[in-house]
Amino acid sequence: MQMMNVEVEKTVFVLEQVRHLTESTYVLRFSRNEMQFLPGQHLALGLPGAKELREYSIYSGVHDDFLEVLIKEVDDGIVSRQLKNISKGDEILVRGPRGFFLTPAAVSKPGKLLFISSGTGLAPFHSFVRSYPDSDYSIVHGGRNISEAYDLEDYKKELFTICTSRGDKGDFPGRLTDFLLQNELDPKARVYLCGNSNMIYDAMDILHAKGLPQKQVFTEVYF
Ligand SMILES: Cc1cc2nc3c(=O)[nH]c(=O)nc-3n(C[C@H](O)[C@H](O)[C@H](O)COP(=O)(O)OP(=O)(O)OC[C@H]3O[C@@H](n4cnc5c(N)ncnc54)[C@H](O)[C@@H]3O)c2cc1C
Repeated sequence: MQMMNVEVEKTVFVLEQVRHLTESTYVLRFSRNEMQFLPGQHLALGLPGAKELREYSIYSGVHDDFLEVLIKEVDDGIVSRQLKNISKGDEILVRGPRGFFLTPAAVSKPGKLLFISSGTGLAPFHSFVRSYPDSDYSIVHGGRNISEAYDLEDYKKELFTICTSRGDKGDFPGRLTDFLLQNELDPKARVYLCGNSNMIYDAMDILHAKGLPQKQVFTEVYF
C-alpha cells in the first residue's frame, strides 16, 4: 500500500463529470492532478471564490486516474447544494488530502476488516475496496432503501449487506443496528465505522456489549 501523502494547498481542479445516483446523492469526478492519497482520507471542497469549504471522503481508488467524491445534498445545506449545481468544465477548490481513518498500518494487519456505514459514509470503504479489492473485508451498510447501496456492483456481493430501514428490498429489512444485534461478530475483527454520529454511537454500544475491544474500533464522524 502507498504511503506517500502530499497535501495540495487549495488548488483549482476541473470537474469532469457529475453522476446523479439518487435525487439527492451524486458523485463528482474531477482531475486528479497527480494527487497522492490513502483510502479513508478526505478533501475540503468548495467553489472558487466562496468562503465555505466542506470535507468529503475520497470515493475513488488509488489506481484511478481521476478523483471522485460521493455527496448527499443536505436540505438547507450550503456547500452540498452549491456543488450539486456545477457542470463539466467548471472549477472546484480542493484542499487536502487529510485524515487518518484507514491507516495502512492498521488495515494491513492480518485479520478481518468489518466496515460499517450509513448514507454517504460508504465513501471511504468504496475507495478502499476499489484500491484493494482482494482484502479480507465485509461491509454492513445502512440506508432508508436499496437506492442507498451506491455502486453496489463495485463490491463482491457476498461481502456487502445492505440494511434498509424503510424499504422491503435489500439484504436485511431493518436498521443496521438491528442487524448488528442479531448477528455474530468476529471477536478479532477490526471494525471501522463511518457516517452520522447517532449511528456510530449506537453501533459502538452494541460492539462493546458484544465484547469487542475498544482498540479494534475506529470511527469517522460526518455530522
Ligand atoms: C471528515 C469528514 C468527511 C465527510 N465526508 C462526506 C462525504 O464523503 N459525503 C458527504 O455527503 N458528506 C461528507 N461529510 C459531511 C460534509 O462535510 C458536510 O457537512 C455536508 O455536506 C453538509 O454541508 P453543507 O455546507 O451542505 O451544509 P451546512 O450548511 O454546513 O449545514 C450543515 C447541517 O447539515 C447537517 N448535515 C451534515 N451532513 C449531513 C448529511 N449527510 N445528512 C443530513 N444532515 C447533514 C449538519 O449536522 C448541519 O445541521 C464529511 C464530513 C467530515 C467531517
